[in-house]
Amino acid sequence: MTINDLRGVLKGRVLLADDDGFEQAATAWNLTVRQPVAAVAEAADADDVAALVRYARRAGMTVTAQPSGHGASGDVEGMILLRTGLLNEVEVRAEERVVRVGAGVKWGQVLAAAGPLGLTGLAGSAPGVSVTGYTLGGGVGWFSRKYGFASDSVRAIDIVDADGEPGRVTAESDPELFWALRGGGGDFAVVTALELELYPVPVLYGGRVIWPEHRTREVYDAFLEITAEAPRELSVWINRLQPPGASPMVTLDLAYLGEVAQGEDLLARLDKIEGAISDSRGVVPVADLGDITAEPTDPAPSIARAELLTGLDADAVELLLAKPVEPLINVQIRHLGGALAEPGGGAGASGAVAEPYLLGLLGLGLPHAADATRAKQAEVVADLEAYISGRKPRRRPISSAERDKILGALRVDQDEQNAVERRDSLQRAPLFSCLTIEGFGGQDDPRKVIRLRATINAACRVAAGDRRTSYHATDELIKIGIAGPDGNASPACAGSSPG
Ligand SMILES: Cc1cc2nc3c(=O)[nH]c(=O)nc-3n(C[C@H](O)[C@H](O)[C@H](O)COP(=O)(O)OP(=O)(O)OC[C@H]3O[C@@H](n4cnc5c(N)ncnc54)[C@H](O)[C@@H]3O)c2cc1C
Repeated sequence: MTINDLRGVLKGRVLLADDDGFEQAATAWNLTVRQPVAAVAEAADADDVAALVRYARRAGMTVTAQPSGHGASGDVEGMILLRTGLLNEVEVRAEERVVRVGAGVKWGQVLAAAGPLGLTGLAGSAPGVSVTGYTLGGGVGWFSRKYGFASDSVRAIDIVDADGEPGRVTAESDPELFWALRGGGGDFAVVTALELELYPVPVLYGGRVIWPEHRTREVYDAFLEITAEAPRELSVWINRLQPPGASPMVTLDLAYLGEVAQGEDLLARLDKIEGAISDSRGVVPVADLGDITAEPTDPAPSIARAELLTGLDADAVELLLAKPVEPLINVQIRHLGGALAEPGGGAGASGAVAEPYLLGLLGLGLPHAADATRAKQAEVVADLEAYISGRKPRRRPISSAERDKILGALRVDQDEQNAVERRDSLQRAPLFSCLTIEGFGGQDDPRKVIRLRATINAACRVAAGDRRTSYHATDELIKIGIAGPDGNASPACAGSSPG
């Protein structure tokens, strides 16, 4: 079997390295990241996804789903890059307050469909980001303080598992996989569609206010005051912006789920800061949510780093403002808290975020700028060390080397027939791009262990294509510092066999 055989397997387009258009098709939205994949497969529908996974299984190859590449990791060498753009169904069931989306749908499409019906999903800042990629990794957006992670609003997930079998995953049908997919990333199965809860939006008030750099201290003071008292309906993000070649500035991005008059009252403090360059505060149609931050929609070369902050006070602001933003483009702080800190009982792998603020450091990833960007990000994090929690706001895909280490440390349940062979084949050719294990848990957080176990169990189960197979972490895995020594049994792990 050769990679050329892939062409006969799908209804959708398959591009191989020698084909015209291959480079473009394999390019990620984040232009910093190179993607030396073996093929790009554009699935025409969910059946194509299943056919692709079955092909990959036979050929011993890995499939990695990537709607756009906003979250590209670069760890895709030799894999088949699955593009899901043709899975673009958006069905709003207004009476149920549910939207069903194909795996290639972008947030902007959902907002455009739901907004006119007085509803919204839990979108983030950029309408070009896919609902699936964002939601599988958690999804922290404008309404997260009120309604939590986007992943916790998932009601059902259509998947193709590692055997190439389609299935529908719900809290009832497969609690463990349902838990892992909602925040644990997309490495447990290929998702073909999601069903998500929508929320009523009678009125949305918000916008962006921009001031020149010399107002930065005053704007930060206002940010601290407003966020100290903000109701869950109000989200405020602050940005120190340094657009290349332009003057530095400071902005507040605002969204309030409520009446205009109340929103004006809550933000009246801003009127005391003189000299705004622009102020777009007003009623925001849900469909125009992305206009608040107006982030770039075209592919861009960027390097982002995010850290959770244990708090933000005058001393932290002093440290933050002591140095220029350059060579970064944006130093952003998002106010978290609310429902993010208190997820409900049926929450997924995103867990709870006690940290009240999220620091985002964005810089250029072009070859001449990448080193300086990373160095500056490290410098800001070092300066703010006392405020950095060390837990990560999103799960990140682990590298191949990390994956191999983890898979190598897996111990096989000896009672399982053929388990050793399965483990060996799993180590040689995991079907999906990687396991995703780095989450919110710190060394002292027992949930990290639970996550790790559930993740390993779920991932191996899916990758091994056998729902009865149970692998679990060994002491070796614990020693390499990925997990703590033990954890409480998790409902999510019920039925699996953690060590
Ligand atoms: C400009 C910009 C703004 C952003 N704003 C926010 C924000 O406000 N809040 C927030 O939480 N995040 C935000 N993010 C981060 C973003 O949510 C992640 O990068 C997300 O992974 C992007 O999803 P994507 O599908 O668009 O990207 P891709 O890189 O195409 O996909 C990302 C990952 O999602 C998984 N995945 C996607 N589709 C499937 C599938 N069908 N089956 C299985 N796995 C799948 C894969 O692991 C894939 O590697 C932003 C990123 C950018 C670049």
